[in-house]
Amino acid sequence: MAYKAVIGLEFHCEVDSLTKVFSRGRNSYNKTPNSNISAVDMAFPGTLPILNKSCVRKAIMMSSILNCKIPDYMEFDRKNYFYPDLPKGYQLTQFFNPVGVDGYVDIDVNGINKRVFVHDIHLEEDAASLDHYYNTSTIDYNRAGVPLLELVTEPCLNSADEAIAFLEHVRSIYQYTDISECDSKKGQIRCDVNVSIMAEDDTEFGTRVEVKNVNSFASIRETINYEIKRQSDLKSSGRYDEVVQETRRYDDETGTTIHMRSKADAVDYKYFTEPNIPRFKISSEFVDEIKNSIPALAGERKEIYINSYNLSEYDAGVLVKERYIADYFEECISYGCNPKSACNWITTRLLAELNKNETTIDDIFIRPKMINDLVNLVETKKISTDLAKKVFSVMIEEKIEPSEIVKKYNMEVIEDDNLIESLVDEVISENKQAVDDYHNGRTNMLDYLVGQVMKKSKGKANPLDAKEKMIIKLQ
Ligand code: ADP
Ligand code: MG
Repeated sequence: MAYKAVIGLEFHCEVDSLTKVFSRGRNSYNKTPNSNISAVDMAFPGTLPILNKSCVRKAIMMSSILNCKIPDYMEFDRKNYFYPDLPKGYQLTQFFNPVGVDGYVDIDVNGINKRVFVHDIHLEEDAASLDHYYNTSTIDYNRAGVPLLELVTEPCLNSADEAIAFLEHVRSIYQYTDISECDSKKGQIRCDVNVSIMAEDDTEFGTRVEVKNVNSFASIRETINYEIKRQSDLKSSGRYDEVVQETRRYDDETGTTIHMRSKADAVDYKYFTEPNIPRFKISSEFVDEIKNSIPALAGERKEIYINSYNLSEYDAGVLVKERYIADYFEECISYGCNPKSACNWITTRLLAELNKNETTIDDIFIRPKMINDLVNLVETKKISTDLAKKVFSVMIEEKIEPSEIVKKYNMEVIEDDNLIESLVDEVISENKQAVDDYHNGRTNMLDYLVGQVMKKSKGKANPLDAKEKMIIKLQ
């Protein structure tokens, strides 16, 4: 029996800011434990929270991009529980009056438009991080108080493809607005994945399973597919009572999910409004000012690439998929580079290089200026297109600039007509059979002969030029 999957996501993302959301502790990635901390983060007695305005701005910006209703007042609530990573004994979050409710976002799923409904988005603080060793555990308070935005969707996604398309869309917004880098390698994202299944003709949702803290898009996809299969297998074999409301975790070694606790063990958080942060009015002027400062997002940049730079829909889509690629492309353009050529180098060679080595664009030696130089060398016919590909590889291997590579490896196009003609003569005299075949009607032999000239010139002859000279000599 085929089941329909229902998925709802709770997507946590660390917000980029100078200081933490409720203290003056620094918010920056730091390998040395307990170096970015303040008395507030450590919950020393008598300390009070100070709300970070830039985090409030970013929260309101995200809320408005997601078409959420923004409340009249900003306020925070305490979520009470005990855990060693939570020195205050409660987490400051927004429970009663989140910064955004009832929103939606339209996404593209394999070419089809889908509207995803947003239940709410709220601003909160992260907890410290715990590291567990063989017989001891350590606490690092660097993460305590790091601002988080949590986005909760309605249960309206129906496949792993839809969930990932939604998350990629949201990540793109975070990156283009500078709200967050959304970098899973830096541990900036975590997602609680809720999955249930129902028969096609059922009117009520099935029992939901929540998989906590899945921290990469690849793992989220595996989690969803694994849960759909696990729940479907149980139901199709009649074991309905084994699909229970429970919290599970994802195990990345096996790609499966494992039971953590049942709903009966659920904690009552005794939420109440934080008395130490006076609620304040979110004025319409403040909201308008924030809305007016939203920069061009991926969709808008894509339109520009198509309409002003004549790029194909596909190419433009590849460039805007990640903000840093789009920025890199635009920097090439700022040097006057031909957009189509810049796009070709980036989408074919540069991205392949990044994927192959799992490096980031900042680590790669080739800067936008060098792409422009390379394109210019080809456009001014200093080097052939074929050799340009070689220059690209040498740039990566030897970390030297294009013009130096051309000099070092003597790659400049041969302009000397006599030299090319003598190469053509040599090829004709060394390839009697091919020449005869050509005269007997095998015209494709021409390409072979020109190829031999190119080879002799080490790729430095202009192929059109060589072809022209070859035709004349063969007559
Ligand atoms: P809780 O507060 O217990 O986490 P919520 O009702 O707030 O529960 O839902 C949390 C998440 O679970 C939301 O993302 C929501 O979309 C999702 N969800 C709720 N019901 C279902 C369901 N039947 N199947 C899948 N996801 C669900
Ligand atoms: Mg939940």
